[in-house]
Amino acid sequence: MHPVTRFSFPTTIIYGPGAIRDIKTYLAELAAERPLIVTDSGFAGIPIYTAFLKILKDSGITWAEYNAVQPNPYDTDIQQAAEVFRNEGCDSIIGIGGGSAMDAAKAAAVLAGQGGRIEEYDVQKGGGDRITEALPPIIAVPTTAGTGSEVGKCAVVTSTAEKRKFMVCHSDMLPSRAVLDPELTISLPPAITAATGMDALTHSIESLASPVFHPLCDAIAIKGIQLVSENLEKAVKNPEDLDARGYMMISASMGAIAFQKDLGACHSLSHALSAVCSIPHGLANAVCLVPVMRFNLDAAAEVYAQTAAALGENVYGMSDSQAAELAVERIIQLNTAIGIPSSLRELQVREDKFSQIAATAYKDICHQTNPKPCTEDDFLYLLKKAWEGYTE
Ligand code: NAD
Repeated sequence: MHPVTRFSFPTTIIYGPGAIRDIKTYLAELAAERPLIVTDSGFAGIPIYTAFLKILKDSGITWAEYNAVQPNPYDTDIQQAAEVFRNEGCDSIIGIGGGSAMDAAKAAAVLAGQGGRIEEYDVQKGGGDRITEALPPIIAVPTTAGTGSEVGKCAVVTSTAEKRKFMVCHSDMLPSRAVLDPELTISLPPAITAATGMDALTHSIESLASPVFHPLCDAIAIKGIQLVSENLEKAVKNPEDLDARGYMMISASMGAIAFQKDLGACHSLSHALSAVCSIPHGLANAVCLVPVMRFNLDAAAEVYAQTAAALGENVYGMSDSQAAELAVERIIQLNTAIGIPSSLRELQVREDKFSQIAATAYKDICHQTNPKPCTEDDFLYLLKKAWEGYTE
């Protein structure tokens, strides 16, 4: 018997080259007049951001700005952005940039609506229930194609004091509009295109494999996997391929819609690697995905066989285990083709950090829906495998 379940896909997504030029309409639809723009300092320094501000100006919009979000945003970023919101009399928030900027925008909306400090809303400490006041409307404008934060109800924040990542989640944190304009991703360097694209793939694969009843998300994950397989290498090798860029943006949103189901052990490792060693989120996922899939093979053979087919492999006549192995091989091939390092050793992760990373990963919530239970020792094993690289 299946449990009584709610299925909900509420985000309004506006997709297409040039979609950002209509930002005034999206604000008007939300009765918003003075947005706080939240972005990171890297994105704030590139011409495409200047062009975005010109669109706002030419549309007669006045705004305030917080443009100092750090990668893997810190609690302090959220606090400062919320202060600008209050001091400048803003009524809405636009998060433009990668996952770091969009998450910071969503978390700042919590503090703007609710007050307090962001760590009080940590989902693992029951923080979601403390979000009771209305939040300002949020518009999310992704400029990487990976995290899918634009369609998610969570923000991932780094605790300065605890050196770990925590999540803040609430249905009101879902952006009211997600604007997917592939032209905004043309300037992404190949290495970031590759790592963020593998993040999107990891979302779809981990959500498909998580043992939660959600056939709608499963279908979305399968299509998301197919789109990454068909388009990521094209986007890395030909950055101006707008079709490939567009499909990558869509697959990133699909991955995040799919992970309403929840994620798995690869994300727990990745969160720990970012918090302890400052490894970018997508890159950490890309390097850890193969060892985690190998670890899960016996528990997830059937679902990894579906993954292999979605990745474009011919699995006709194969057993689930044979097809599952093929999925892993295809991911190694894709990682290699797009220049992802094959090991944590290449990323300079130090072995003397393993116990801290494993303990941090074990405390992370994501592995609770891994197809196979993970102990702290399992995380040590997975780290060793990821450090060694693609051998076996
Ligand atoms: P990011 O936001 O940190 O951006 C990476 C780099 O790319 C930055 O230097 C940024 O300035 C640059 N950049 C962004 N867009 C660019 C463009 N168009 N051209 C040139 N440079 C550009 O990286 P990310 O991978 O997008 O986000 C990672 C963060 O998202 C992590 O903190 C991760 O935990 C979080 N995350 C959140 C969710 C969620 O559901 N909320 C899901 C996955 C990951």
